Amino acid sequence: MIFDSHVHTRFSTDSQMHIEEAIAKAERLDIGIIITEHMDLEYPQPEFFKFNLDDYFQEYDCYRSPRLRLGVEMGMRYELADKNREMAVHYPFDFIIGSVHVVDKKEIYPEAFYQGRCKKEAYDRYFDTMYGCVQQFDFVDTLGHIDYICRYAAVEDPEIDYAEFRDRIDPILTLLAERGQAIEINSRRLDNPRAVESLFPIYRRFQELGGQWVTIGSDAHNPVDIGRRLDKAIELAERCRLRPVWFDKRKPQLMK
Ligand SMILES: [Zn+2]
Ligand SMILES: [Zn+2]
Repeated sequence: MIFDSHVHTRFSTDSQMHIEEAIAKAERLDIGIIITEHMDLEYPQPEFFKFNLDDYFQEYDCYRSPRLRLGVEMGMRYELADKNREMAVHYPFDFIIGSVHVVDKKEIYPEAFYQGRCKKEAYDRYFDTMYGCVQQFDFVDTLGHIDYICRYAAVEDPEIDYAEFRDRIDPILTLLAERGQAIEINSRRLDNPRAVESLFPIYRRFQELGGQWVTIGSDAHNPVDIGRRLDKAIELAERCRLRPVWFDKRKPQLMK
């Protein structure tokens, strides 16, 4: 079964979706979903992206089924790795995504992040931060949306040119591959053929370096987006000879 392994419901600050709506949509599409609420400790906007994990498991445990698993998207900050590791050990997650949303204690979606520096400087800082985080977060199952910066970058061409950033990207992919961690193909931007073509060499490189697994996720915050463009994510994985998996009790399961 195909799994959408990146879905936010109302425990995530920026989603209003009720879990029943998510389940109904997934049933219509005949896919499985993993709920991955967004937990970002010490976020620059302090009240954002935190939720009570006891409440989460208490409220959602009854929805767990072979088609619905419970996970989390952790915002990675290398100085907060230990606190996140404690959560990972302490709570019965099926799946943990590690994502970079914050660089040098700043959100990277506002234009201010790009002011006073060229694309190369901003993206180098983003990838250096990601590498530092991946080093510390050896306990996450997958690296979320490596192209997150492309969604928001206030630069002329936001796409990642692999050749330009390979010295920064290769150490990240190498470490994930060595440890047997997965990388996510986030389907949000895959309607754009240029995005697909610029991501292709990155995922192919992951495979060349010994990476095996990809998780695929829509990053849906509402029912309409659940399952969207997962076909394109699977197609990209197949082109790169990577195997799409989903996670059950922190163990990769092949999608069949
Ligand atoms: Zn994210
Ligand atoms: Zn997300």
